Amino acid sequence: MSELVLLKLGGSLITDKTQPNTPHLEAIKRLAAEIKSALDDRRDDLRLIIGHGSGSFGHAVASKYKTTQGVIGPESWYGLAQVSAVAARLNRIVMDILLEADIPAIAFQPSASARMRQGQLMYFETHSLKTALEHGLVPVVYGDVSVDAVQGVNIVSTEKLFDSLARELNPERILLAGDVDGVYTTDPKLDSAAELIEDIDSTNWIEVETSLGGSLAADVTGGMYAKVKDMYHLTLAMPPMQAMIFSGADSGNVESALLGRTADFGTLIN
Ligand code: ADP
Repeated sequence: MSELVLLKLGGSLITDKTQPNTPHLEAIKRLAAEIKSALDDRRDDLRLIIGHGSGSFGHAVASKYKTTQGVIGPESWYGLAQVSAVAARLNRIVMDILLEADIPAIAFQPSASARMRQGQLMYFETHSLKTALEHGLVPVVYGDVSVDAVQGVNIVSTEKLFDSLARELNPERILLAGDVDGVYTTDPKLDSAAELIEDIDSTNWIEVETSLGGSLAADVTGGMYAKVKDMYHLTLAMPPMQAMIFSGADSGNVESALLGRTADFGTLIN
């Protein structure tokens, strides 16, 4: 049976998070070429689902309408439409570049089928996605808005979608590619003394949680702490699944990770 891998291209990697609505087109093209090369190398041996963050497209609009706080005013539902539009706009850009690289990518708009309840993803429709995967296509999901049964509106992150997909499809590995080398003791962009944590497992989880939970560099999906926590709990629930957080900004890393050469970079969570 071929290996199933879920690969996230982080918003920090594919957009300039300091400028609204600014894609890193050259980075997306390079990443597409790396993915294509790995798919060609492994032929029938790799099934891939891609997810991507919304980066500077989603976060500015989601902050304006405070979408993660739910329906808090007359503009909240309009905000849902606006955030959905920017997320879909970035997705179109990514999809066109993936298709241009000859990757048989097909997008599944999460807001069309996701249902949340107080920030928990309760349901995500996967029938068509699974059928596409079975037929050799590469399904693509992305950070999007969602209806929330309690709050009215919310944001569903790629990590939450991956959590749901992983529990259903049982992938061997989850790869999260971002703009930093992995999980550090503190935010490496703010603290030059931050140290890379190479492995996160039950032996050091309490320590990691204490150090990350204290330095919340929050974006609308909770930043690095939420990402690590989601992945730790997922891998704990589903051994021998592994998750890896690493830099996709270094040329060749995404391809190496897809090929399984992951020993010497990033943070491994299991
Ligand atoms: P993405 O958009 O790629 O999913 P985020 O922007 O949500 O990722 O999170 C990645 C960012 O988190 C990094 O650019 C880094 O500046 C920040 N960060 C905060 N704390 C840490 C930490 N302890 N280790 C690594 N990165 C951290």
